[in-house]
Amino acid sequence: MELQGLNAIVTGASRGIGRAIALELGRAGARVLVNYARNAELAEEVASQIPEARALQADVASTQGCEALVAACKEWGSVDIVVNNAGITADGLCMMMSDDDFDRVVAVNAGGCFRMCRAALQPMARQRSGSIINLTSISGFRGNTGQTNYSASKAAIIGMTHTLAREMGRRKIRVNAVAPGFIETDMTNVLPEVALAQVKQNIPLRRFGQPQDVAPLVRFLAGPGATYITGQLFVVDGGMSC
Ligand code: NAD
Repeated sequence: MELQGLNAIVTGASRGIGRAIALELGRAGARVLVNYARNAELAEEVASQIPEARALQADVASTQGCEALVAACKEWGSVDIVVNNAGITADGLCMMMSDDDFDRVVAVNAGGCFRMCRAALQPMARQRSGSIINLTSISGFRGNTGQTNYSASKAAIIGMTHTLAREMGRRKIRVNAVAPGFIETDMTNVLPEVALAQVKQNIPLRRFGQPQDVAPLVRFLAGPGATYITGQLFVVDGGMSC
């Protein structure tokens, strides 16, 4: 129960990796704000499994949405942990990618991370404490065919993480990034069988990751064992990028 008494916001937490993180933080004793974009029923189901939790709709691509999340968390007293997990893809080869597909992915993934950080940094700076964990991707540092937009957005998150760690360290706010490889979720279940087999061949551990493979690292980074860790990128990919 190392997160007892701490308040957390997890964006995009109604399913997939965000859901696993919300449940993991809840099991460690945190109060969790379970953010969702559309599916209230799924988000309520996640919140119902955590002793102290609330599901809240907000679009992280909007300043208003991010500020509403931070305001709701402040009602619990403090904003201790923010996990920027919400993300989307709109894959396609660069030559064929529309302006809208590029702009939308960058706006949600990088813009959402920026807006959430900006909103949360104010109370964290006043508290002189806080841990932000940003979900990026191995695509953000090694690229991936068909993901010009997504890899650009995830590279932006890595840059933001390093910058915010430098900017906010003296206020005792820690900012780290977690880069999953291939995790089985609704985001990745769109790939055809043949592509999946090829991906698996390139994973030294010869299996796809599960949301539960990512969540314990996020819990660790949020908690007392990581108080001297900031500005770092942690890869969880079964060795795919090594
Ligand atoms: P997912 O699609 O299952 O979940 C993403 C969640 O984000 C969904 O609940 C969605 O509704 C929410 N969301 C999307 N746009 C939002 C918005 N504007 N406001 C609020 N919520 C919004 O995907 P996932 O696989 O669980 O991915 C979670 C995170 O991990 C994402 O940032 C993703 O880029 C990253 N990631 C995933 C993988 C993978 O292999 N699954 C790999 C690397 C990184």
